[in-house]
Amino acid sequence: MSAKINKTTTGPNIPKDHPRYTAMMIRESIIKGCETKVVAPAGLIAQGRGEAFDYIIGEKTEKFSLAAIEAAACAFLLAEYPVISVNGNIAQIAAKDLVKLSKESGAPLEINLFYRTPGREEAILKVLKEAGAKTVLGVSGNSSVIKELASDRRIVDPNGILKADMVFVPLEDGDRTEALVKIGKKVVTVDLNPLSRTPRKAHVSIIDNITRVLPLLTAKIKSYKKKKKEELKSIYDSYDNKKVLKDSLVFMSERLLKLSTESGV
Ligand code: ATP
Ligand code: MG
Repeated sequence: MSAKINKTTTGPNIPKDHPRYTAMMIRESIIKGCETKVVAPAGLIAQGRGEAFDYIIGEKTEKFSLAAIEAAACAFLLAEYPVISVNGNIAQIAAKDLVKLSKESGAPLEINLFYRTPGREEAILKVLKEAGAKTVLGVSGNSSVIKELASDRRIVDPNGILKADMVFVPLEDGDRTEALVKIGKKVVTVDLNPLSRTPRKAHVSIIDNITRVLPLLTAKIKSYKKKKKEELKSIYDSYDNKKVLKDSLVFMSERLLKLSTESGV
C-alpha cells in the first residue's frame, strides 16, 4: 500500500517495517473514529469485511481498478453536477484526499449517514473542516428525502445529491445505490467486495481500497481535463462494469489458487 493515512491514533505501537503497516494504521484509525463518533459501530464490521477482501486482492491496485478509475474520472468530468457522498469510515481514513478530490473535480462533499446518532454529523463535519473543506453539504438541517428509500440515508441535501446528475458513493449500501440508480443518477462506487450489492448495481465500480483510489482518481481527473468531451465520452462508453466485476473475481480466484499451490502453504 502506498497511500498516506491520517495517523490520528494513539493505539498500539505498530512498527513501520510491519509488512501490513498501512492496513494496521487504517484499522487503528477506524477504531479511534468510533471513540469520536465519526465511525458508527457497524463501520467496524464494514472495515473488517473490506480488509478481508483487500487481503485476497493483495493490497494493491489492480488493472480492473485502474479501468474503473478511468471511467470514473470521465463520469466526474462529463457530469453537469457531480456530488461526493461522505460517510463516517471514509471521513475518518481519507478526509484530506476527499478534500483534494472535491477541489480537483469541483464536486461538493455531502455528509450522508446510515446511522444518524446525535453529534455524529457534527463530528464528521469537524474532521472534514480540519482537512481543509470549505463548504460541506448535508449538515444545514435543510433536507429533502429520496422516497424510494426507507433508511435514514433517504435524507439528502436539496442542493447536493438531490439535484446531482452523478453521485460518487464509496462504501455504500446496496439499497441506496439501487434507489439512486432508479431515480436517474449516474452512480460511481468504490468497494473492495465485488460480491456486495453496491458494485453490482452501480454504473462504475472501483474494486479497490478507498485510500489507494482517491489519489489515483484525483490525478486522473486532473490529466483528463485536457481531453475533449467526445474523447471522455468514448472512454466512458467503452467501459464495461460487468466485465470489471468478473475480472476482479477471476483475479481473486487465480491468486488464491496460486497461493494454495506455492510451497509452504
Ligand atoms: P450490500 O450488499 O447491500 O451492498 P453491505 O453490507 O456490503 O451491503 P455496507 O456495509 O454499507 O453494505 O458496505 C460497506 C462496504 O465497504 C463493504 O462491502 C466493504 O467490503 C467495503 N469497504 C470497507 N472498507 C473499505 C475500504 N477501505 N475501501 C473500499 N471498500 C471498503
Ligand atoms: Mg455493499
